Amino acid sequence: MVRCLQVDTVLHNAKICIRGTIIEAGIAIDEGKIVKIAKTTNLPAASTKTDLKGHIVLPGLIDCHVHMRDQQLAYKETFLTGTSAAAAGGITSVIDMPNNKPVTMGSFSLTERMKVAEKHALTNVAFNSAFPKRLEEVAEVVNAGAVGFKVYLSNRIGGIDVDDDEALLAAFREAAAKGVPVAVHAEDREIIEERRREMETAGQNDADAYVAAHPPEAEMQSIQRILQLVKKSGVHVHFCHVSSKLGLDAVLVAKKAGLPVSCEVTPHNLLLSSEQYSRSGFFALTDPPLRTQEDVYALWSALKRGFIDVIASDHAPHTIEEKNVNSVWDAKAGIPGLETTLSLLLTQVNKAHLSLAELVRRTAEEPSKIFHLNKRGVLEEGRWADLVVVDMKREYTIDSSRFLSKAKYSPFDGMRVKGKPLKTFVNGKLVMDEGEIISEQNTGNIVRHI
Ligand SMILES: [Zn+2]
Repeated sequence: MVRCLQVDTVLHNAKICIRGTIIEAGIAIDEGKIVKIAKTTNLPAASTKTDLKGHIVLPGLIDCHVHMRDQQLAYKETFLTGTSAAAAGGITSVIDMPNNKPVTMGSFSLTERMKVAEKHALTNVAFNSAFPKRLEEVAEVVNAGAVGFKVYLSNRIGGIDVDDDEALLAAFREAAAKGVPVAVHAEDREIIEERRREMETAGQNDADAYVAAHPPEAEMQSIQRILQLVKKSGVHVHFCHVSSKLGLDAVLVAKKAGLPVSCEVTPHNLLLSSEQYSRSGFFALTDPPLRTQEDVYALWSALKRGFIDVIASDHAPHTIEEKNVNSVWDAKAGIPGLETTLSLLLTQVNKAHLSLAELVRRTAEEPSKIFHLNKRGVLEEGRWADLVVVDMKREYTIDSSRFLSKAKYSPFDGMRVKGKPLKTFVNGKLVMDEGEIISEQNTGNIVRHI
């Protein structure tokens, strides 16, 4: 016989998005997990009951491309400010990137970083590591909890020589053996450096010169190079922020051939073109850059045909001073995205450019599958109660001066959006309510590879 127990929380009068279908029901939460989704009358008694007033509940977003900074880069962002921004934006789990100070590239640096995150994070945090110097350490990094590795083909970050195919292949085989994916920033270093030298020699130092120094060919060629290593190693490669039609086409060929690859696009590459530089200057500078309208169309077309696996913010905060420089070669590339991603995408849902089911698939279900965040990303019994309540009708204007992130700038400043995260629950706890952070620090968990 089932006993009628009292649970911690019941959320009722809600429309719940479960694997693409919306049902009118409530959610019972106990000890951080979803214990029941049912009509309100069938839910157990609860210590706290919250009326969601008919709003839609989505799985909290899993943003698999976030630079949390902190440690020696705490002046740009910390786990506290970054995860506050995430919670404000309806994101309940982030995957942190390794290009930190110190670089995350071994079990020691990873563990140190986890300790900092554990004290402060309001959302769940998982970690990608760069490859360590010694191959034997790859397994140790995974055992310490990294959910994946990140390779930068455009810079030298981490312990292995990314220009050396044999070294990369050996590292990929180790990752494959441990069952973790490799996320790749695919831009060919030699092409970029050569183009940049040409531009600098010609005295060109504006955003157009930066775009010219990061041509789509650089993206395409390095994707093709990595695909050869995928074939040989069998590792799952996740291509970060694919930005161009050429790059995308290379990924699609691999997908059609059945290779274990996935790809990601950013809201900025989906919604802005390089024309934005004339309005936002270096505040719109990202790596890879904003591209042509034709590239934007290609990304949308692929998204609509189901070829884009993930939408991730590539939240890459910098200071205003690092952006307010005269030469693009002195400017830092990267924009904050945690607080704009969901509203920008809900706006696209309201315009019928994207379905809510597709939004959830690309921002929660797929990232949880690719990086094995097994008990998250879907609203169902037994999973963690990571969820966001959204008001589809609420309109507002993006204003970066109100961001909780330390990076108070955005190329989306002044843009009108429709659709807003109202409440964010992380592990069953209400962390954000109407834009305000209301929980104590460390409501988030460190999510480890298991
Ligand atoms: Zn990035």
